[in-house]
Amino acid sequence: MQDNTFSYTLGAGGVATGSKCVMTINVNRLVQNAIWDGGMSDISMEMEVMVEKVHKYLLAFNAILKERQAAGLLPVYDAGFVTPEKQYLTVGINGFMEGAESLGIEPDADNPDYVKYAQAVLKPIYEANRRDRSDGVMWNCEMVPAENLGVKNASWDKAEKLYVPRDCYNSYFFRVEDPKVNVLDKLKLHGRDFTRYLDGGSACHINLDEHLTREQYALLLRAAIRTGCNYLTFNVPNTLCRSCGYISKQRLDRCPKCGGNDLDYATRVIGYLKLISRFAEARQEEAQRRHYSKGMEDDHEPSD
Ligand SMILES: [Zn+2]
Repeated sequence: MQDNTFSYTLGAGGVATGSKCVMTINVNRLVQNAIWDGGMSDISMEMEVMVEKVHKYLLAFNAILKERQAAGLLPVYDAGFVTPEKQYLTVGINGFMEGAESLGIEPDADNPDYVKYAQAVLKPIYEANRRDRSDGVMWNCEMVPAENLGVKNASWDKAEKLYVPRDCYNSYFFRVEDPKVNVLDKLKLHGRDFTRYLDGGSACHINLDEHLTREQYALLLRAAIRTGCNYLTFNVPNTLCRSCGYISKQRLDRCPKCGGNDLDYATRVIGYLKLISRFAEARQEEAQRRHYSKGMEDDHEPSD
C-alpha cells in the first residue's frame, strides 16, 4: 500500500485517491523534439528534463493550494472531506502512442521495440516521482483520458509541422480505431510491460458490442491476470432512442421499442456514461471509429 496506493479495481473509490493537479506531457512532441539516434536513451534524457519542469510547476501549484487553505478559501479541505497530504501531484501523459508511431515503431502487442519505447518514456517519470516524494507531497503518473487535450495537442503539433497521425491523440497503448487489435492484444498492451511505471492508472477499455456470457468474461479475466493487466473495464455502449426515449443496454442500429433510427449512444468515459453527441467534435469522430468487438470468437477476424 505504501508504494502504490491507487486502487486499480475501484478507480476513484480507492484509498483517498485523487489529484491536486495534473500537468500533462505531450509525449509525441517530446519524442519528435528529442534528437533520436535510433536508441532510446535520448528520449529518456529528454523526458528527465521535462519531468523536472513539470515537478516544479506542480510544486508551485501545491504552494498556492496551501496559501489558499491558510486563507480559509478551501472549506472542503478544512471540513476534512479531502486531505491534501493524501492527494497526488500527477504527471499526465498524452500522445504516447503517436510518439512511437513517429519513430516508425508499430504499437503492436508483440513488438519488443514498443516495449523498449514504453520503458524509455515512462521509467524516468516513475523514478522522478519516487525520488521527489516527501512529507505531504506524493506523485503519480497517469495516462490521462485527454478528452479535450488530445484534440488540442494534435492541432498544436500539426501547426508546428510535427508528425500527427490522427486528429485526436489516442488515450490507450493500442490504436483504438484499429479493428485488428483484438481483446487479447489490448490486455497485453495494458499488461505489466506497459503499465508497471504508471502508478496513477491507465484503464484498459475493452469495448464490446454486447454483453458476454459468464464463461467468456471469466476467460477474459484469466487472460488479464496472465498479462498482468490490473486495471480494466468492459464497455458496452447504451443506445438511446431520441424518438421515444427508450434506452437499450447494448449497441443497436434501430430502437427495439419504436423501430426509430434517430439514435444516440452513451459510452463510458473514465467512470461515467456520456452521450457521444456531447463529446467534443473531434472526439465524436474518434468515438465513431472506436472498434467494438463482438465477442471472443469474432475477435480474431477483422469485423465490420
Ligand atoms: Zn424508440
